[in-house]
Amino acid sequence: MSDTSSTHPDDDSVGRTPGSRPHAGLQPSTRAVALGRPARTPGAPVNVPVTLTSTYLADGAVTYARVSNPTWEALEEVLGSLEGGPALTFSSGMAAIAAVVGLVPVGGVVVVPRHVYNGTTGLLAEREAAGALTVRRVEAEDLGGIVEACDGADLLILESPTNPMMELTDVVGVMRGLRTRYGVGRPVVLCDNTFATPVAQQPLRWGVDVVVHSATKYLAGHSDTVLGALVVAPERDDLLGRLRTYRTLHGAIPGPMEAWLVLRGVRTLHLRVERATATAELLVDRLEEHPAVERVRYPGFGAMVSIEVVGGADAAEAVCAAVQLWTHSTSLGGVESQIERRRRHPLEVASVPVNLLRLSVGIEDPQDLWADLSAALG
Ligand SMILES: *Cc1c(COP(=O)(O)O)cnc(C)c1O
Repeated sequence: MSDTSSTHPDDDSVGRTPGSRPHAGLQPSTRAVALGRPARTPGAPVNVPVTLTSTYLADGAVTYARVSNPTWEALEEVLGSLEGGPALTFSSGMAAIAAVVGLVPVGGVVVVPRHVYNGTTGLLAEREAAGALTVRRVEAEDLGGIVEACDGADLLILESPTNPMMELTDVVGVMRGLRTRYGVGRPVVLCDNTFATPVAQQPLRWGVDVVVHSATKYLAGHSDTVLGALVVAPERDDLLGRLRTYRTLHGAIPGPMEAWLVLRGVRTLHLRVERATATAELLVDRLEEHPAVERVRYPGFGAMVSIEVVGGADAAEAVCAAVQLWTHSTSLGGVESQIERRRRHPLEVASVPVNLLRLSVGIEDPQDLWADLSAALG
């Protein structure tokens, strides 16, 4: 986790009015509210509209809506400011990840930790089976092993904390190791920041090349939208251009309504994450004392918690069936607390314990959440 001070090198690099930098020096929670708005002219709406158009009048900067849309641009301005680089939105988190994987040349090598989002694992396995690339799997916490595996690699994918095992990668150490060992020959580094959110950490500060978000989760925050985003390091114009072209040509673009919903969600990101994190810390303290809980996995920040319950898979499923306030569903990052046994998904890797429950702590009253969860644990 990095500090969250305001000295981000590119805090004001994406302001809409070139020359004037009205948002320079503002705190992230302020920028989450203030950016991505129409220009302040008398009578202007305070929110960007949902721009429903497939084309634009000729001779402007953009001619067709697969290339860009004003509602995406407003969201991209905010996300870019929060993560520290230019942003590109996509139809889903997976579309964003697939775009980065799509830049790997045929026959290239991708390094990925064993425990990451199972869609990422599945996508790489599918590409490998198709003969498009080779995958090297590493352990998220094994700094030396990750650097070693990157010999000749084209892409390194990191996720910290990992989903659902909550392992942390020393991203700063990995970047230092890659530079020392491979210099400019190092792989492109993509970091999935969905779990941590930019409230807790901004991986571009650590030197990674691209950050990915499933905006479906905390950024949107209300379990009502699917959308993805990439944020590219400001010095990697080459990657930004290639990824923008990839989006235009492969066409996995967000809908304007979805972009608008995520933009509205982001306005309250800091409030939601702070509240959910405080509740998660309280629940972790109590879960660690609970006799039905064998192990609590919590990285020390954020609102995602995994627990392993006594009694195996059946006992874990029984907890999911018994909760009344918590929502038994997949996904995470919504205002409502969610619970799920991850191994119920056939794609989840076999080293994830069968009795592991992943908790996404929401913003309800902490005592109500504890009462429901502790009753379900029995
Ligand atoms: C959900 C998720 C994704 C995939 O995002 P979608 O928006 O569902 O396509 C990627 N990474 C992580 C960590 C996720 O939780």
